[in-house]
Order: sequence, then C-alpha cells, then structure tokens
Amino acid sequence: MKCPRCQHENPAGVKFCGACGTRLEVPCPACQAANPPTNRFCHECGQVLTVAVEPVQAAEPTRPLGGPQAALRIPPKPNAVSSR
Ligand SMILES: [Zn+2]
Ligand SMILES: [Zn+2]
Repeated sequence: MKCPRCQHENPAGVKFCGACGTRLEVPCPACQAANPPTNRFCHECGQVLTVAVEPVQAAEPTRPLGGPQAALRIPPKPNAVSSR
C-alpha cells in the first residue's frame, strides 16, 4: 500500500505509514474492516466512514426560568385554623 502523503511503499496490512506515520487504514465503525483513508464508505459493509467528524452533542435540557428555588413550590399555609 502506497502512502498518500509521502508515497512510501508499505507492506499490505499495515495501518500506519512506516516512513511518515500517516494513517493508511481507517477501521470501519461497524465491521472493523480496514479501509484506506481515501474510502468514504466501507468496502466491506458499506458503512459511511466518518473521518474527522466530531459527533454532535445533544443540547443540554433547558432549566426552568427562575432558578432552582422556583421549582420548589411552598404550599400555602392555612390561615384560619383555630377559629372554633
Ligand atoms: Zn508516509
Ligand atoms: Zn464495514
């Protein structure tokens, strides 16, 4: 396998270039098959090879306005208790 960066000829099966350290194979996230970095899809199962794409984090749940004290509802005290 030829290195895409330095054109160094590496033996088949290697994952990194022996000359410059460039990654030569990208493991498929689905089937773990080694794909060349030029592949956009896995040549084994067709899974999209998302290289250098950070997962989008889910947005944090919005807190209710007013702070944590607003969530604590104090029940109203009964005013008329002792009136016979
Ligand atoms: Zn190289
Ligand atoms: Zn695959």
